[in-house]
Amino acid sequence: MLLPGVFEIFMNNRRIVFSRVVFMVFYSFDDVLRVLQVFQETPCEVSDELRGWRWREPPLLNPYRARINASDLSFGCDTGRLAYLRHVKRVKERGGEELAFGLAVHRAIVSATTVAKGILYHEKPVNGGLFYEKMKRMGEELRKGEGFSRFPEVFDCLWDSAALAYSSALDRVLSISRYLSWDGVVYRVVPWTCEFPVDGRPFGLNRAIRVDALIPPSVIVEFKTRRPSRVYEVVLAGYALCFEAMFRVPVNHALLLYLSFEESGRFRVYENFVPVDDSLRVEFVERRDLFLRAVADGFDPGLPRECDRYCPYLKTCRGE
Ligand code: SF4
Repeated sequence: MLLPGVFEIFMNNRRIVFSRVVFMVFYSFDDVLRVLQVFQETPCEVSDELRGWRWREPPLLNPYRARINASDLSFGCDTGRLAYLRHVKRVKERGGEELAFGLAVHRAIVSATTVAKGILYHEKPVNGGLFYEKMKRMGEELRKGEGFSRFPEVFDCLWDSAALAYSSALDRVLSISRYLSWDGVVYRVVPWTCEFPVDGRPFGLNRAIRVDALIPPSVIVEFKTRRPSRVYEVVLAGYALCFEAMFRVPVNHALLLYLSFEESGRFRVYENFVPVDDSLRVEFVERRDLFLRAVADGFDPGLPRECDRYCPYLKTCRGE
């Protein structure tokens, strides 16, 4: 039986588990426990030869010496031309408004997380109200800077959401015991690490691919502002494989958080619980090989039938 608020759909015989949460991107510790419960109740079998720690053997073995970025794979370029243009021809990219928007959202989430931890460690606020005031002041300062001026409403909404979520979490954690260490308090209030670096080299990716957020012990989270896509799940499988290769712990599930914004900057968050099963792992390996081949052989694989509407090379390839 599924938890309240969680629902499932079937696409191509594949079970996809979703839940909808409103105004909640900054996870509380209770959210973490809820997600772990969904994972536990969604069984996912994985063959041992498809575990990341078996990267030296087929079918995971990387047959090329070239490297690509994890972000190359997150565009729907079914021939791998994107990797050829980026790494062989080194063509300048022209990302559209949607990519700039996505970047601004990522940046705001990462900054809010980092600033929240900084306040907790350095100021040790004795209640949520003090934390909230400090967080708001820091947000006003940051908002004046270059990096956050382009989408101010979005920054404000995300920052408010972080300030509220973490101030109420602080009150809850402090009520547990007066004898908690601050390191423990900070972990319980802000239970994820943003931009967690993982070594992608065993799989032909960069040395430090950055997972949007990692929730201990091994929950990988990616934030998305574009429309839901299977490609994101495939890239997530790549992250899970790299994580398994590095830490030698199994990752059977991961999480995509789709953020959908209104013009006012208000947003909703849709959780997509992704089982990292055999088929997703094989799909990642096939896609990786396609992209790596275009770079290693230095040949132009040509255009796919359809291009990703958000691709930064649309003008180059399609003249649009
Ligand atoms: S525009 Fe099309 S062919 Fe060119 S890189 Fe993007 S998806 Fe690939």
